[in-house]
Amino acid sequence: MTRILIVEDEDRIVSFLEKGLRANGYTTVAVGDGDSAVALARDDSFDLMILDLGLPGRDGRDVLRTIRARGERLPVLVLTARDGVDDTVGSLEQGADDYVTKPFRFEELLARIRLRLRTDDRGGETTVLQVGAVQLDLRSRRADSGDRTVELTAREFALLETFMRHPGQVLAREQLLSHVWGYDFDPGSNVVDVYVRYLRRKLGEGTIETVRGMGYRMPA
Ligand code: CA
Repeated sequence: MTRILIVEDEDRIVSFLEKGLRANGYTTVAVGDGDSAVALARDDSFDLMILDLGLPGRDGRDVLRTIRARGERLPVLVLTARDGVDDTVGSLEQGADDYVTKPFRFEELLARIRLRLRTDDRGGETTVLQVGAVQLDLRSRRADSGDRTVELTAREFALLETFMRHPGQVLAREQLLSHVWGYDFDPGSNVVDVYVRYLRRKLGEGTIETVRGMGYRMPA
């Protein structure tokens, strides 16, 4: 079981992260301040830390400095504020392994986490997904339907990947919205329906089914 330590003081982001990570099979522990993070990082049972830089009291930079000074090699993925260029460069210099700028899409964060865990040699991740006639190569970002290659935009790709990771499962609009578009998106938006239409147009009408009153499903 891969365990992720989340260090973030904003409840809304913590719950967004925990929900998404748990749905993808990770175990999570969340703390909201730097001291707890430094204490918990001693625990060898974590595989990765997601670290917000702006924390009350001891901030993320200080956490990073402290644990690296102690010689801990736990992979750290930093969350930085928009336009925090100095933060980003500084945190990488201080021993962060990667960073994601807020606001971020869940799929983007997940890709960074997977990449980091893979580099760290901890898991043999699948890189090609296949559901029915549709095949998605996550590494080359290539989509095929039968023997035809389909051009997808980044958003279409992220949405299709979400469906393909949950074949046969009904996914609610809100779930898809937060997963693919991020936590800052208006929950009343119809953008999911619009993109499902795009995918159907490109991959065939039957590729994604509407489940009335519940959401959408990609038949397994
Ligand atoms: Ca914060």
